[in-house]
Amino acid sequence: MRQKQAFVPTMREIPADAEAISHQLLVKGGFIRQLTAGVYSFLPLGRRVLRNIEAIVREEIDRTGAQEVLLPALQPADLWQQSGRYEVYGPELVRLKDRSGREFALGPTHEEVITHLVAGEISSYRKLPVTLYQVQTKFRDERRPRFGLLRCREFVMKDAYSFDTDPEGLDKTYNAMYNAYHRIFERCGLQIRAVEADAGSIGGEGGTHEFMAIAESGEDDVVTCSCCTYAANMEKAINRESVDFASDEHQVSAIARESAPLDPFHTPGMRTIEELIEGLGVNGAELIKTLLYMADGKPVAVLVRGDHSINETKVINALGAITLELADTETVKRVTGAGTGFAGPVGLDVPLLVDYEVSIMPRAIAGANVTDYHSRNVVPGRDFALAQVGDFRNVQEGDSCPSCTEGKLTIIRGIEIGHVFKLGTKYSEKLGAQFVNTAGESKPMIMGCYGIGVSRLLSAIIEQNNDEGGMIWPASIAPYKVHLIPVAHQDAAQMDAAERLYAELTAAGIEVLLDDREERLGVKLKDSDLIGIPLRVVIGKGIADGMVEWKERRSSGPAERIAITEVLASINAHIAQS
Ligand SMILES: [Zn+2]
Repeated sequence: MRQKQAFVPTMREIPADAEAISHQLLVKGGFIRQLTAGVYSFLPLGRRVLRNIEAIVREEIDRTGAQEVLLPALQPADLWQQSGRYEVYGPELVRLKDRSGREFALGPTHEEVITHLVAGEISSYRKLPVTLYQVQTKFRDERRPRFGLLRCREFVMKDAYSFDTDPEGLDKTYNAMYNAYHRIFERCGLQIRAVEADAGSIGGEGGTHEFMAIAESGEDDVVTCSCCTYAANMEKAINRESVDFASDEHQVSAIARESAPLDPFHTPGMRTIEELIEGLGVNGAELIKTLLYMADGKPVAVLVRGDHSINETKVINALGAITLELADTETVKRVTGAGTGFAGPVGLDVPLLVDYEVSIMPRAIAGANVTDYHSRNVVPGRDFALAQVGDFRNVQEGDSCPSCTEGKLTIIRGIEIGHVFKLGTKYSEKLGAQFVNTAGESKPMIMGCYGIGVSRLLSAIIEQNNDEGGMIWPASIAPYKVHLIPVAHQDAAQMDAAERLYAELTAAGIEVLLDDREERLGVKLKDSDLIGIPLRVVIGKGIADGMVEWKERRSSGPAERIAITEVLASINAHIAQS
């Protein structure tokens, strides 16, 4: 491609709304443009990278034996009602009506459609197992789209769905996908961690893993162990103490508790844990944090120690609830009789979910359910019931690892780029995907589903591969392999040599971008750094001796002088290595 004609609208300024470095660089480099919040056009360079990523994804997923299909984005609501997700999915599901008032959704995922399809076409074990996948546009009405391609309302995903006759078959398919994912991300040049995850609203009883690209800008907390391979996302992560607690029922009754009576005292304006620590000169570990939630519309209170934070996923799972949100001020007032910030467990007439570390406190300070008052000498088990004790908090940096003896937990940031789920029979039962087994019995198919955020990968790769000059594309997915830059467009010898090299490389099947613009060298090099093509060949005065300058985008060292006749061989060697 000749750059003079290329549609690569680079920008000098950083877009004002772009927080993530990948968002800034993709817009500056002319790879994407925003149409409206969370909705982007892919310009030629962005489209080329996307296609290269898609090609790797297809190659590796095909290799597992899966077959590609293309399913509709427009999905009738009754399918979603059959699976029970029409309500559960909430406002993120884009809903619309056709001219006769029939309801539809724009698919954020395709479990319903694929299960319906397979249910209608396969009825015997002889046609199983089967895995189908697609690379397709998804829709999700994000409350707060941000970070460019990282959190969008319209995005490209690879989603695969497997149908097996037994759990062993599902395990095999799941492992094949898990391994394919590792190969895909490695080929895309990503540093990743596969972590245990919570199944969430997608459901299913089996295992689930998320694949996290490690990046400072990531929105997810990834919990890892300093000693062993334990890795989980924050929703799912547990610590050694919670494992020990779950296996020891007598621990709570053995605690030596405070015998002094409950002692309400005046704490004017101290609504937050920070204000209490400051105002009372106490430690967070001496306080109980009581938060009121609405779980499926009914109030519950969750208690964790003042120095801990509540894990809402653990709360939802313990309650078996579908929705959980913090109670509003009015509900807090109605349930506790006090303003926000003074809730406590004593005398509270709602279910109490008590974190196990609260249950073992000998005494604590907690809200008194009276505005501007807290109570001292609050004794768990004496002053409030320990009916529902469990692990309701997020793990913290330095907690003990649940799966080895010495390790401490560390928290790093990650971008979720893929997930694999064992769904079991959740969807096949609801949508009638049955098969007749060898014994002639009708059984629900056993499903798995496997997603990769294809457009999100562009951003994740840049988050891991950039410098002050711009993007650094791995050769496997770069928009072009080589950037050819003549120094002086008015110098006939340089332009001739550039044109000949361009023709030679193109004929050899190498994707080349030739900067034939009438621009100063400085401008050309700046743009070249910004768009991050992995190899750069500069043709200047040295061409009189048959020499050119060769530089790898990733290298911080000076350019190398090589003979123009060596360029093709050097490129091939570089591509073979990467
Ligand atoms: Zn460990």
